[in-house]
Amino acid sequence: MGKMQRRNSHLKDKELKELKDRLLGQKEDILNKISDQTQYVLDPNEQKEQVDAANSNREKEQEARLLSRQGFLVKKITKTLHDIEIGEYGLCRECDGSIPFDRLRARPVADMCITCKEDSESEEKGKLYKKVSKSLGRTAQEYGRI
Ligand SMILES: [Zn+2]
Repeated sequence: MGKMQRRNSHLKDKELKELKDRLLGQKEDILNKISDQTQYVLDPNEQKEQVDAANSNREKEQEARLLSRQGFLVKKITKTLHDIEIGEYGLCRECDGSIPFDRLRARPVADMCITCKEDSESEEKGKLYKKVSKSLGRTAQEYGRI
């Protein structure tokens, strides 16, 4: 359409459409689930029953957490759909590389390529390990010099 360079052109139109449909379907599913749960929470019949207050609070907390997690996903899907519109979908936000279609099909909201994703995960989990392996590496080098 426009003259703007579409950066997500590594995806074929057909692939892009499939992913978009997937995202729209996911969003609808979540929104349906949220409204089901909200109805359940607000059900007046529920209030009449004498339930253990602490227990019901815990349930509400769990529901709230669930709802916020789903809300987070909805936001992410909305952002992803926006990225499709502006032609920036399917690109890794770390290295700017193309995210392969197979990965996007498995996880349409993915915004990092598998390499960067693994890097960021091992960075979280393995800060100590990295430090250790770095110092081991230096020790090995020093030994090499002797
Ligand atoms: Zn990357």
